[in-house]
Amino acid sequence: MTHELEQLQQQIRACQRCLLAGYPVQGPPIFSGAAHARLMVIGQAPGKVEAGRTLKPFSGSAGKRLFRWFGQVGWEEDDFRARFYMSSVTKCFPGPNKSGRGDRAPSRKEQQLCAPWLEAELMLVDPEVVVPVGKMAIERFFGRNRKLVDIIGARFQIDGRIVVPLPHPSGASAWIQKPEHQTLIHRALGHLAVVKRELGL
Ligand code: SF4
Repeated sequence: MTHELEQLQQQIRACQRCLLAGYPVQGPPIFSGAAHARLMVIGQAPGKVEAGRTLKPFSGSAGKRLFRWFGQVGWEEDDFRARFYMSSVTKCFPGPNKSGRGDRAPSRKEQQLCAPWLEAELMLVDPEVVVPVGKMAIERFFGRNRKLVDIIGARFQIDGRIVVPLPHPSGASAWIQKPEHQTLIHRALGHLAVVKRELGL
């Protein structure tokens, strides 16, 4: 699968679907990891830091919080990045939102345009564990009608994979600040620690 995944990654790097459809995304597409990674993290979309400076998924302020959470599970950042796959629902920086104080959320259409890339990554990497991070990634597995409180803090088996969802770790997220939601996050990290131990990840 290594060769096929590298070919796919080249195709993703050359993708202009959103630009051609009139969306002001800013490349390059951001993702990282190799074939046969046993765990895949799926976020929403890269931010300015990822697309403009580091070219690494989850390397801005939200990424710092995500890796603090993973640190509680027992995963150290460099080792995690080296061993696991990190991608997102849309892979190009969507640009700022209208207020200019945050990032624009990718539209439904952009999510649809980018979805075949994510599906191909899932097929070729074939991870045993998936961690969807944030509502958009969670919708890929659970549809649009489930509430985060019903999903965060639980462990699922979907299409033969273990799925442990996490909320978006953005500092702007009011959801993660609520004490009752902190409990759910703690529970989700506990599930990941068990999965890590069970599978030797
Ligand atoms: S977000 Fe996805 S579909 Fe849109 S241009 Fe980037 S890689 Fe292509």
